[in-house]
Formats: sequence, C-alpha cells, structure tokens
Amino acid sequence: MLNDLICPLDSSPLTLKERTLICQNGHSFDLAKTGYANLLPVQNKRSKDPGDSKAMVQARQAFLNSQAYLPIAQKLHQILTEQIGLTESLNDDIRLLDAGCGEGYYLSYLATQEDYQLKSSVGLDISKWAVAAASKRNKALSWLVASNAHLPMPENRFDAILCLFGFPVWSEFERVLSDQGFIVVADSGEDHLLELRQVLYPEIRPHKAPNYDGISGFKLISSQSIRFSFEVNTQQALMDLLAMTPHMHKAPYAGRKAIEALTHLRLTADVTFSLLQKQSNTELENNPNA
Ligand SMILES: [Zn+2]
Repeated sequence: MLNDLICPLDSSPLTLKERTLICQNGHSFDLAKTGYANLLPVQNKRSKDPGDSKAMVQARQAFLNSQAYLPIAQKLHQILTEQIGLTESLNDDIRLLDAGCGEGYYLSYLATQEDYQLKSSVGLDISKWAVAAASKRNKALSWLVASNAHLPMPENRFDAILCLFGFPVWSEFERVLSDQGFIVVADSGEDHLLELRQVLYPEIRPHKAPNYDGISGFKLISSQSIRFSFEVNTQQALMDLLAMTPHMHKAPYAGRKAIEALTHLRLTADVTFSLLQKQSNTELENNPNA
C-alpha cells in the first residue's frame, strides 16, 4: 500500500490519513478515486502535462492488451525468479519499484505470478494518464505520479527496480535500493520493430542497446536478449503500435502515411535485458576502481 513514502517538497515522511498523504510540514497530497497519489510538485514539472499523453496511453494500453509483448513480460518474470532468486523467498513480499511503469502492464503481470507477493511494490510514472490507467488495471498495487529524477521514497526502500524502455536515474536508483539490490533495465535491441522502421524511413540507421558496464555504484551481472515475431493485423493496431514508439514524432510524413495504408505487418521484437546489482560500501572500499 502507499506506505514508506517521503514528501517531494521537503523529504520528510508522508503519513496516510484517510485518503490524504500528509507530511509534518503540512504538505498534503490527496489520493485519486482509483487510489493512486500524485507526488509530482508543480514546480518540478517541465510542462503542464508531462509524460505520455492520454492518447498515447490509450494506444499503448490497447496494443499491450493484445498480448503481443507477453514474451517480454514472461522473460522479465524469469529474470526476477531465476537470476535474482526471488523464489527462494517463496511468498515473501518483494519490494519492487517499476520506475516508469506506463499503464502498468508489466508490473501487473508480475503481480499475477504466484512465486512471490508484491504487496509493497510501487509503480511510478511521470504521466498522470498512465498512472490513472495503471491504478484501474490493478487495484492491489501502489501507483504514483512522480519522477525518476526525484523519487519520493526513503533510502533502502526497494529490493529491486525495473526500468523498462525508460530513463534510468542511477543516483536515485542507488539511493532507494537496499544493499545488493537489483536493477533490471530493458532496452530496444538492434532489430526491434525493424519492419516498422523499414516502412517509416527511407534509410534505417543502426541502433544498439546501451551497455551498462561501468555504471558507478553498480555491477553489471548479465545482459541477455530475446527475439520473437508477432503479427499486427489491423490498421488500428498498427497505429497503436506506432503511437507508443518515438517514431510517431521522429518519422517523416511520407513514412507515417505509408503505415496508415497498411492493414497487416509481421514484426520482429528484439529486447535486451541488463541486470545490475548495487555494490555495497565494503565492496567499493575493497575495490575502489570497481
Ligand atoms: Zn512536505
């Protein structure tokens, strides 16, 4: 539930009273009808409506609900249970942060698996539309409108952090992670949605997933990719897919028009998962060059 949070204005602990989170200095944040809290202070917003727009969230939700990306969710579950060993603590409550949760598809999927519980887990996104949709998708999880740049949580709040197709803020992740805590980062690989890009652009620029070896305070444990094909069979579904990618705004007009003329596309998904572990202070002292 919404516990163990700090005030985004002065970092003092927030207490839930009725349906309002309050700090000792009187800052208060009301819960929305569906139970999420908006902890993004007005002064930290770069725009009036930051993050994904309502239309983008709806498109993403429609696409993800088709289960085209189910293998990505399954791989994520496998990494959590096999690589991090969450099943060793069967039925234990895993404190997971989905930093950039979008409309909650992946965290909700993980919460339906029976290896562990996610009672103290939090999904967070800067888009209020995304978080509103997430809070409807799964009412048992905690959802917050907030920014990765200023996580409204105290130190050592989480056992693991997910950063899926988002923007990692390593210093904040390090602060809220427990010692030896894990981060799973997912990025698009070189061939991700290649067929879509071939229609959109006259020339495809090579794109490589970032390498997270050498991030200060973390050790790269593993890096693994998955590839699979999926079909998109309606014009609407293709537009939904386009709307959830950066190509919606980057692609030239002619390319977008070419997508609009299609009703079917067979696509490649290519996703790289990087698993990082927070290094404890003693490890850093013993090996200052790590
Ligand atoms: Zn406050």
